Amino acid sequence: METKSVSIRVDHVTKRFKDPAGGRSVTAVNDVSFTIEPSELVTLLGPSGCGKTTTLRMIAGFELPTQGKIHIGDDDVTFLPAHARDKATVFQSYGLFPHMNVFENVAYGLRIRKLPKAEISEKVTATLRLVGLESLANRSPGRLSGGQQQRVALARSLIVEPSVLLLDEPLSNLDALLREQMRVEIRRIQKAVGITAVYVTHDRTEAMSLSDRVIVMRDGVIHQIGTAADVYENPVSKFVAGFVGKVAFFPVDVLGAEGVGYACSLRGRRFTVPRGVPGIPAGGRAVIMARPESLRLGEPGSGLLEGRVSANIYLGSSVESFVDTEFGDILVQIDDPTSRKVWPEGSQVSLQFEPRLVRVLPEDVS
Ligand code: ATP
Repeated sequence: METKSVSIRVDHVTKRFKDPAGGRSVTAVNDVSFTIEPSELVTLLGPSGCGKTTTLRMIAGFELPTQGKIHIGDDDVTFLPAHARDKATVFQSYGLFPHMNVFENVAYGLRIRKLPKAEISEKVTATLRLVGLESLANRSPGRLSGGQQQRVALARSLIVEPSVLLLDEPLSNLDALLREQMRVEIRRIQKAVGITAVYVTHDRTEAMSLSDRVIVMRDGVIHQIGTAADVYENPVSKFVAGFVGKVAFFPVDVLGAEGVGYACSLRGRRFTVPRGVPGIPAGGRAVIMARPESLRLGEPGSGLLEGRVSANIYLGSSVESFVDTEFGDILVQIDDPTSRKVWPEGSQVSLQFEPRLVRVLPEDVS
């Protein structure tokens, strides 16, 4: 399978929809810019209504931008019809032809291009091998599992060798276990083909495990673009911190900058947090974000904040302890619970931050 790797450039793109009822317009996407490098898999991640699907649909050509430009490779495709764009789209619904077997579903795109029979056969066999379905070529789609049907849909998209693969919540119809397997598969296949891919999801685990980079959106704007580690460890806002992972926020007074971190005070207790979003003024308010794995429990009085263990949830490789504090229920993850202390429910405890995943964020940008 030959794919020419191209970039995708989205430049100051805005999309406004007219509300058919009232005539008021909705800004679904608001001055969004990003570049996806050749062979990169980038995910648009955000809550329902944030504009991720509209952004993907504009790259696909199913919607036209109100403003801005879209390039695929060197070509300005902003107003090019969808069918003329060198892309394939995989949707949540598989859209397979029920009366054709797997082989014929995958061959379809080549048959309408009138390729020689032998070449079609060779390409279909290679593509079915790529998606792990070579033994099911003669099955009808109705006799395949959801995951297998999605693989057929993927094979059918890839066989025409598009430059760009667009995936719109492709795993939403699968159960949790299958979703986990398929996201590993999609990444493997995308890397094997080397195709530039854009993936839309509201599922953070999916986004974090699949992507070279994640674009976090809300209300039509981009909050942050980065690798999974970037957005998890160094979120720019409370929204990103909360959307990409479990987190607790502690309100603090900022005493002053210290390197790339801050001296802070929490209820009059002073301490230094080594990392933070730059530019928070001394004397201002801020929050400390703490991931569950960055909190530790100790004897009452030994840490920064007192609380009581309200529940322990056993997850095998870890225990999640919920600690009732003056800032609400705080989740603490205790890894390797066979060798580390799990405080029984009802215990009085003291919470301490591990500097590693703790970070100061502005209070006002939510
Ligand atoms: P979801 O995960 O629910 O699909 P999303 O993040 O993909 O959400 P979009 O589908 O891009 O969000 O929608 C963004 C905003 O634009 C929403 O407020 C939506 O109601 C609105 N919108 C989308 N398509 C249209 C349309 N054709 N006409 C009017 N408004 C639209």
